[in-house]
Amino acid sequence: MTQGLRLVLFGPPGAGKGTQAQLLVDRLKIAHISSGNLFRHHLQNGTPLGLKAADYMNRGVLVPDELTIDIALEKVMSLNAEEGFILDGFPRNTIQANSLDDALSLRSRRLDLVIAIDVPEGELIDRLGGRMVCRECQAPHRLESGQNPQSDEQRCDRCAGELYQRDDDTPSAVHNRIVVYQNETSPLLEFYRQKGLLAEVGGVDTVENVYNNVLAKIQRVSKTGDRE
Ligand code: ADP
Repeated sequence: MTQGLRLVLFGPPGAGKGTQAQLLVDRLKIAHISSGNLFRHHLQNGTPLGLKAADYMNRGVLVPDELTIDIALEKVMSLNAEEGFILDGFPRNTIQANSLDDALSLRSRRLDLVIAIDVPEGELIDRLGGRMVCRECQAPHRLESGQNPQSDEQRCDRCAGELYQRDDDTPSAVHNRIVVYQNETSPLLEFYRQKGLLAEVGGVDTVENVYNNVLAKIQRVSKTGDRE
């Protein structure tokens, strides 16, 4: 059996990771593991973990590692060893990145590629303020200018679920998320560059162009044929 690719989609909040992840899972038929979606799912179900995580998420700071690592790695390890995946939002610091490497090496596996989507800060703030997310499938959507997130009923393009504005897309939480990304998460760029796993893609372009650039990077690793 051919092995699925093991990918990380990396980038600041609002870079378009969720959008690209949806397109990639449809095409590559691999699992999408989004730590943010896992937390939001727990919250919708009112679990203690969800309620605890929401307290951090709404402030725009990282959920503590002891909660995050368990929930993300449990999903990764629930796949069989040959199955591929796209991690989106995890890892977000070096402790999480090392725990991911350790978990994969228990199965004699490692990541194939980390795709970093680069978007400048000013653009991120605009994007997050104008974003709505589907309650059912979590797909992100852009608010058209003039649309009011509170009063205009809008439906998801993919599954017709209800769209809503996330509690952490408020200006102060967005500010914190960007600062947290710069201080705690962006050092992982160097971490993965040194491992020879990093591929960088510009994120200020059409969704299709970003997607094609991401696919080109992925095709390069799938062709080398030396994946473990
Ligand atoms: P975005 O990338 O747009 O910020 P996410 O849905 O990935 O959105 O994350 C939303 C929030 O969930 C984060 O601000 C953080 O509070 C929490 N979170 C998600 N992933 C992690 C993680 N790996 N470590 C700690 N907290 C996380």
